[in-house]
Amino acid sequence: MAPAVVTSVTTKAPPDAMPREQRERLPLGPVKTIHVYWLAGMSCDGCTIAVAGATNPGIEGLLLGAVPAMPKVILHHPVLAVEAGHEFVHAFQLAWEGRLGAPYVVVYEGSIADERIAQRTGGYFSAMGVEERPGFEDKQPVPTAEWMRRLAPGAAAVIAIGTCATWGGIPSAEGNPTGAMSLMDFLGKDYRSAFGLPVINIPGCAPVGDNFVDTVFAVLLFLQGLGPLPTFDELGRPAWLFRETVHQGCTRAGYYEEGIFAEHYGDPECLVEIGCWGPIVNCNIVKRGAINHMGGCMKAGGVCIGCTMPGFPDKFAPFYKTPPGAVVSTQLSRGVGAVVRRLRRLSNREGNREHRWDVLQEVPSGWAHVQAQTRLDRAIKFFYEKWQLMGSKKPGRPPGQEERFWGVDRPGGEDDYLDESSTRRSTS
Ligand code: SF4
Repeated sequence: MAPAVVTSVTTKAPPDAMPREQRERLPLGPVKTIHVYWLAGMSCDGCTIAVAGATNPGIEGLLLGAVPAMPKVILHHPVLAVEAGHEFVHAFQLAWEGRLGAPYVVVYEGSIADERIAQRTGGYFSAMGVEERPGFEDKQPVPTAEWMRRLAPGAAAVIAIGTCATWGGIPSAEGNPTGAMSLMDFLGKDYRSAFGLPVINIPGCAPVGDNFVDTVFAVLLFLQGLGPLPTFDELGRPAWLFRETVHQGCTRAGYYEEGIFAEHYGDPECLVEIGCWGPIVNCNIVKRGAINHMGGCMKAGGVCIGCTMPGFPDKFAPFYKTPPGAVVSTQLSRGVGAVVRRLRRLSNREGNREHRWDVLQEVPSGWAHVQAQTRLDRAIKFFYEKWQLMGSKKPGRPPGQEERFWGVDRPGGEDDYLDESSTRRSTS
C-alpha cells in the first residue's frame, strides 16, 4: 500500500517551493486567444454559477470571441468543460510545461486547504486529475493547490474569485479542521504573475458575476495593450467596484438619513437595527444587482452580513443582531432626521402642486380631495422661493405682465373656462 505521507505535494508552500518571482513584462498585445484555467478548491461552486449568470457581457460572448477588442477565451473549467479525464487535465499540463503557445489566466474558486493535514492520513481535500508519484503503486490525485503552485508563475494574471478564494471565507472560519486559506495567503505577498500582477481579488459569497467579467475585461484590455492597468485597492480588489460601501449605494439609505429604521424583516425602511452591516462593508451589489441588474441583498429585503469582507463570517457574527457601531450612529440620525424629514415633508407637499393650482387655489384631482395651499404654505413658499431664486432670474413673465397670461391673453372667453382665469367676455 501507499505510504501515508506524501512529501512532494504541499499546500502552504515553503519558501523554496513558492512561485518564482518573474521579471515584470509589458503587455504584448494584441492577443488573439487566451486560455483561462479554472481551479476549484474548497468551494460550493456558487462562484461558477454566479459567473455563468453574468450578462454584461455573458461568458458566451467571450467564449465565442464575439466581443469587440477582446481575444477569444478558451475556458478550461472542471464543471463546464466538454472534455473529461486525461484529455481535460492534459491542457493544464501543457500550460505547466510551457507548451501552450498562448497566454493564460488562472482563476481559483474556493479556499485552499492545507493539504499537508490531509496527507497525514493519506488523503486529500481538493484535487483534480491523477498522476504517477514515487512511492505509490497507483496514480495519486493532484491537489488543486498543487496545480495553482505549478501554474501561477507562468500565468498572465491570477484571479481569486469569491470570498473563500480571496480571504479564506467560510472554510477558514474559526475552528475549521482544514487549515483553509486564501490565494493571497497561499502565494504570498511577493507573488507576481508573468505580467507583473499580484493576485486579483473579486470577493463575494457568491460574488456578482458581472463584477468578474468586468474585471476580466479590464485586465484583458490591459494585456491587449488597449487600456491602462485598471486600478486596484491595497487588497487587490477592483477599486471601481469595491471602493464604496454597500450603504453608500443602498436604496434604503434615505431612510437611514432621516432616522427611520425597520423593526421587522419585510419593513421597507433601513435594516441596520435588525443586523445590517452595510455602512462598513465594501460591496456594490445593491447598485449593480445580483444578476442582470436585478435583485441585490437589501433590495430583496435581506441585511448585509459582510460576505465580501476579509474576516467573514466570524467578524460579522452573530448575524441579525444590531452591529455595535450602529448604536451611536442611529441615535444621531434619529435626532437630525426628525428635523430634516419634517422640513422635507413640507417641501415635498409644495413640490406636489402645479403653479397653476396655486394660482387657482384648487387641485383638480378626481382621485381624492387634495388640500389647496394654506396660509402657512404660502408663507413658506414665499420665503423658500426668495432663497431659491436668490441671484437668479425668476421664471415666467416679468413683474407687471403676469395678468397677460392669466387674463386677457388667454384664448377664448370666460365661457370657455371652468374657472375665473379669463377676464375676456364671450362674444356669442
Ligand atoms: Fe445602509 Fe443597510 Fe440601511 Fe441599506 S439597509 S441603508 S446598507 S444600513
